[in-house]
Amino acid sequence: MNELRDAALGYAHRGWRVFPLHGIVNGACTCGRGDCSSPGKHPLVRRGLYVATADEATIQSWWRRWRSANVGIATGAASGIAVIDVDLPTALASLGRLVDACPLPTFTGLTGGGGLHLVYASEDPSLGNSAGRLPGIEDELPGVDLRANGGYIVAPPSVHRSESRYEWIDANREPAPVPGWLKQPERTYAALDVVREIDFEGDGTPYGLAVLHDELDRLRAAQVGTRNHQLNRSAFALAQLVGGGELLETAARPLLLMIALACGLGEPESRQTIDSAFEAGVRQPRCASHRLR
Ligand SMILES: [Zn+2]
Repeated sequence: MNELRDAALGYAHRGWRVFPLHGIVNGACTCGRGDCSSPGKHPLVRRGLYVATADEATIQSWWRRWRSANVGIATGAASGIAVIDVDLPTALASLGRLVDACPLPTFTGLTGGGGLHLVYASEDPSLGNSAGRLPGIEDELPGVDLRANGGYIVAPPSVHRSESRYEWIDANREPAPVPGWLKQPERTYAALDVVREIDFEGDGTPYGLAVLHDELDRLRAAQVGTRNHQLNRSAFALAQLVGGGELLETAARPLLLMIALACGLGEPESRQTIDSAFEAGVRQPRCASHRLR
């Protein structure tokens, strides 16, 4: 009997994609690092949320191997959910605004750390992740994050570092439809020079950022007729670095799209090219060669 595995299988049954996270055993993260910055919350498998699955055999084999692994659910269109992550007490000042704006009740989890996960049904592939704000609400919302495409949540009955468990308030409730205002804003596409002005600080390692600059430059310089091909190549190369931990997906994707549109490529085709190149690229992770030694 293993509650964590059973819960993971239950999520998969709902069509949600899951993957194993490090667990908490005897009050410590199973990664064994005394200075772990994210106890019980970081992936146990290489490529983390990119290998999340609803495949029963894979899930069985993960939890056979790691019995106390916490359960991660990949959010976004693949699982059909977007999650508003409310960190208490930081979010106390944001609660009034949130309760006014969000359809409630919805499928809601209590995080082991005293926060809430409001789970909404969403198939929107453009919805990303945000911290301290929500797309569609202008004001800052301290303690309120969005987890959608490219993100994940720690799910019940995972064990929190406090050793209390994550749990659902009502496990039989269905997620309410995502609120209509929760939409990635339409971007305004500025002149191509804008790339030089962007502050990339924190979006990746120095190596990852150097390649990012280089690929964006290539895309900007691509001739008419070769641009979609170049977008595909650049997106694939950057996705490999995302897979290798050199670059944040949340940095690479929007920049590729921005440059593609500024070059005159159409939005639906560009998104499609980026999506498929990313899917392939993260499966072939790449990192700076000195890190392989
Ligand atoms: Zn750890």
